[in-house]
Amino acid sequence: MYELIKRLYPICCSITGEGTRETLNIIKEYIPIEIHEVPTGTKVFDWSIPKEWNITDAYVKNSKGERIVDFKKSNVHILNYSVPIKKKLPLAELKKHLFTLPEAPDQVPYLTSYYEENWGFCITHRQYEELKEDEYEVCVDSSLKDGHLTYGELLIEGALEDEVLFTTYICHPSLCNDNLSGIALQTLLASALKDKQLNYSYRFLFIPETIGAITWLSLNENKVPKIKHGLVATCVGDAGKSTYKKTKRGNAIIDKVVEKVLKDSGAEYNIVDFCPFGSDERQFSSLGFNLDVGSLTRTPCNAFAEYHTLADNLDFVAEEYLQDSLDKYLDAVFILEHDGKYLNLNPKCEPNLGKRGLCGLIGGRKGPDHLKEAIFWVLSDSDGNKSLLDTSISSGMPFKIIKQAADLLCETNLLKRVV
Ligand code: ZN
Repeated sequence: MYELIKRLYPICCSITGEGTRETLNIIKEYIPIEIHEVPTGTKVFDWSIPKEWNITDAYVKNSKGERIVDFKKSNVHILNYSVPIKKKLPLAELKKHLFTLPEAPDQVPYLTSYYEENWGFCITHRQYEELKEDEYEVCVDSSLKDGHLTYGELLIEGALEDEVLFTTYICHPSLCNDNLSGIALQTLLASALKDKQLNYSYRFLFIPETIGAITWLSLNENKVPKIKHGLVATCVGDAGKSTYKKTKRGNAIIDKVVEKVLKDSGAEYNIVDFCPFGSDERQFSSLGFNLDVGSLTRTPCNAFAEYHTLADNLDFVAEEYLQDSLDKYLDAVFILEHDGKYLNLNPKCEPNLGKRGLCGLIGGRKGPDHLKEAIFWVLSDSDGNKSLLDTSISSGMPFKIIKQAADLLCETNLLKRVV
């Protein structure tokens, strides 16, 4: 995942443009995504697809011809979606187009101006304060023309038409945790699932944030009812503990699944309630759709100082944290795939486990002694209504042990799956 982030890091992405195509084409080397192009001007609910933005160069030069701000050093230096300009101007006029973070004077902010035509550069407040009177030359070699919004999509078909949605965004340039980490995690997650026999179907979206989610929902309303559970993958590569933002409903199956995954991991975690800000859960949970979409992150975007600055760079994320996040997503898939309702076929008193070789099996088995405990929990709960996930939550035992117990009981005809 870290290697993929390193490849994507130099690309200048936005909500439209060649950068998004380049990003999607790299993802396509790993997983067979379909790349969709939606023309400028297409109506998508209350919005329309904006003009396509592309950029090749941008700089501010002083009168000695030195580039004092250089897009080629980092994409973050350009106000994303800056319109083209080339002119000479004095410091006072230049300053109207310079953006800084006075409260963090050594950080370069990442800013956008998608829906208001403007141009500008993002620099440290320290550099801003040190600028001298001079005649500056600014150049933004960009274009804003009719074109397309580009997004990627992959459907991995399982036995059921019911779908699990994983969605992430591709519009932030050269920012690692928010959100190249989400792209890397989803790519490797899809890669891990694509050749498996699955029950659920899994839909992966790689879209520009907000306008991409609105676009997908607008163009695919017929597919929406199939989506039963969803997660927005963002900010999954930093050192912080995992954070789960619940669905709007707050007690959806995906909420129970992710909370269980986090509990079973043994590591510290945070759970926060839904709010209508954040990422694309806003669109998927809007009243007209009300999908059960949560978001499993590490440090949430509003809680790390590097957020939307040049400091959200390759040093801010690490493979071990990406892997830990991916493991949790895989564990959530494991529960979704293996949860079910079972019926105890010997409900009158405890069955004689020894007669069925289960005592010896348990005694002789390496691993957690509490498999026997799990067997008793499954026998006690399996009335055909309570799911294995419910049993794992009420017993406090890891889902995987409960599932293992259910498998053993099925093998010995003491239990059968009903749903
Ligand atoms: Zn962001």
